[in-house]
Amino acid sequence: MRSSSEQMTMELHAIVHYELSANRVTLCAKCERAGSHHRGFADVENRVIHLDRGYATRSTVLRALHEIGHVVTYKPGMKRWEREQASQRWAVETMRKYHLPVPREAQRRARIYIARMARWGRNIAAGRGKAAAEATAAAYAAREDEGA
Ligand SMILES: [Zn+2]
Ligand SMILES: [Zn+2]
Repeated sequence: MRSSSEQMTMELHAIVHYELSANRVTLCAKCERAGSHHRGFADVENRVIHLDRGYATRSTVLRALHEIGHVVTYKPGMKRWEREQASQRWAVETMRKYHLPVPREAQRRARIYIARMARWGRNIAAGRGKAAAEATAAAYAAREDEGA
C-alpha cells in the first residue's frame, strides 16, 4: 500500500506529464542554462520548458504549468507582462480543471509580479526616466529569483 502522500505526489507528476504531452511541450533534460532551471523559463519557439524536475507540491506544479502556459498562450507581439498574465491564467485554469486548489501565496506573488511588470512597461512606454526604469528592472530581477 502506498501512503496517501505518495499517491498525491504521483498524481501531481502525472498531471504535469500529461499536460506536457497534450500540448506537445518537452522538458529540457540538460542544457548550458541549467543554472536558471531553479526559477524556470520557457523556450516558446522550440516548445521546451527549462525547469528543475520534481513536482511534489502544488506550488511546483503551478510553476511547471506556468512555464507550459508560456508555450500554449504565446502570441507574437504580446508584451512581457501580458505573456506572464496569460501563462499564469492558463496555469490556474489547468489546476482548477484537475480540482487542485491553487496555492494562495503563489497566486498573490504572481499578481504582484505581473502588476509591477505592467507598471514598468507603461513607464518605459511613457518615456519616463531611464534611472527609474533601471531601478524597477533590478527589483524584478530580485523578484524573479523568488520565482514568478
Ligand atoms: Zn535547460
Ligand atoms: Zn513566466
